[in-house]
Amino acid sequence: MDKSRIIVVGGGPAGMFAALEAAAGGHEVLLLEKNPVLGRKLKITGGGRCNLTNIKDKKEHQRATIHNPKFLYKAFEALDPKGLIKYFEDRGCTFKLEKEGTVFPKSDDSSEIINILEKDLLDQGVDIWYNHKVEGVSVQDQKVQGVVLTDDRELLADAVIITTGGASYPQTGSTGDGFKMAKELGHGIEKIKPALTSFEIKENWVKTLAGISFSGTAVRILKMNKLQESGDLLLTHYGISGPPILKLSSYINEIDLKENPVTVEIDFFPDKDEEELKAWFLHHSSGKKNLGSVLTEFWPKKFIDEILGFLKIPKDRKMNELKKKERGKVMGALKGLQLTVVGLRPVKDAIVTAGGVDVKEVNPSTMESKKVSGLYFAGEVLDLDAITGGYNLQIAFSTGFVAGSAAGRKEEQR
Ligand SMILES: Cc1cc2nc3c(=O)[nH]c(=O)nc-3n(C[C@H](O)[C@H](O)[C@H](O)COP(=O)(O)OP(=O)(O)OC[C@H]3O[C@@H](n4cnc5c(N)ncnc54)[C@H](O)[C@@H]3O)c2cc1C
Repeated sequence: MDKSRIIVVGGGPAGMFAALEAAAGGHEVLLLEKNPVLGRKLKITGGGRCNLTNIKDKKEHQRATIHNPKFLYKAFEALDPKGLIKYFEDRGCTFKLEKEGTVFPKSDDSSEIINILEKDLLDQGVDIWYNHKVEGVSVQDQKVQGVVLTDDRELLADAVIITTGGASYPQTGSTGDGFKMAKELGHGIEKIKPALTSFEIKENWVKTLAGISFSGTAVRILKMNKLQESGDLLLTHYGISGPPILKLSSYINEIDLKENPVTVEIDFFPDKDEEELKAWFLHHSSGKKNLGSVLTEFWPKKFIDEILGFLKIPKDRKMNELKKKERGKVMGALKGLQLTVVGLRPVKDAIVTAGGVDVKEVNPSTMESKKVSGLYFAGEVLDLDAITGGYNLQIAFSTGFVAGSAAGRKEEQR
């Protein structure tokens, strides 16, 4: 077998796994990374702790994937969460299970994951060129020839795997270069949208309370059936954020929110029903205390001042003078404060980029382009995105694994 050369563009999780799998086939593999280090985004995942994957079954991974879950079926068969965990365990990493099936290294340190990958790449003889940015892919007669670097040098290759990520957190190196390269080669690009991002809210009083958080809320999007997520909510200088908001954002990023704002309803106490709240009001209704001070049982003081202003109820209203309508308003706010979403934070601030290379033009069993022979895609550059919980990294590793092994296999058959 003649050694063939496989070039991988981008050293994130998808690129590192693609390079490893291609090298396992005995090929000469060159990994080109524009940063001076590998896995700069991987380093900040899970708040620096790296939520590597989710232990839930294939069906749950499919459900958690917002765009094109079916495309991933074969990739998950090739490398599922257990397979991914085993790869790292075989190299000395131990893991712990956290809430909702999330998996983290016991060290709580994403560097452990990166170090294992980097060591393995070197052990497998993968040539890594840091500080090398790829400008484009050269193609002749619909067959890959190699890549062109920013200094115009052309590097020849029998196969090229594009793993340049999305366009979120550009400071990590993911600046959407792969979208441009794919487009130049005739690939369709599904519109780029922010996913897993925060909401911009119309109500200005909320924005004056940046930094205040509430634990265990339930947030619903009105008029969208069953769209509800639970968790901690954070007020920001532009609106609201926190795990339930990030998850919900992925379902409304197709809407032009400026033209068609949506209403969210926040239940601050999903575990308390209306009867419990009514009993609470009854218990306090004979007292001479102010509504504002009694409500500190539920909300922070600064929030109470603002929300009572919004509800047009004087905060020094005595409990025994509270009108029925006012009590109804406060109960309504506790169980369903309505806010107007007028936008999402931009792609650059989003955790994940939705949109990307149209998966209809990519073979799901190999990740090879259906337009250019010898060209492969893996990871976030593809039109794939999932909710939070370790699902996005699993997508990157699984598709990278498939692209690397398929590129290797194809070269063996030559
Ligand atoms: C703050 C944050 C936290 C996250 N936490 C989690 C989490 O805990 N769990 C989870 O599942 N997902 C998480 N994600 C999402 C996850 O990190 C991404 O989905 C994943 O990194 C995508 O992997 P990738 O290999 O496709 O792309 P990337 O990780 O973006 O890697 C692409 C690489 O290609 C390089 N590159 C780009 N263009 C070029 C070029 N022209 N030439 C050479 N190199 C190039 C880049 O420098 C980069 O190193 C998080 C994302 C963010 C932003």
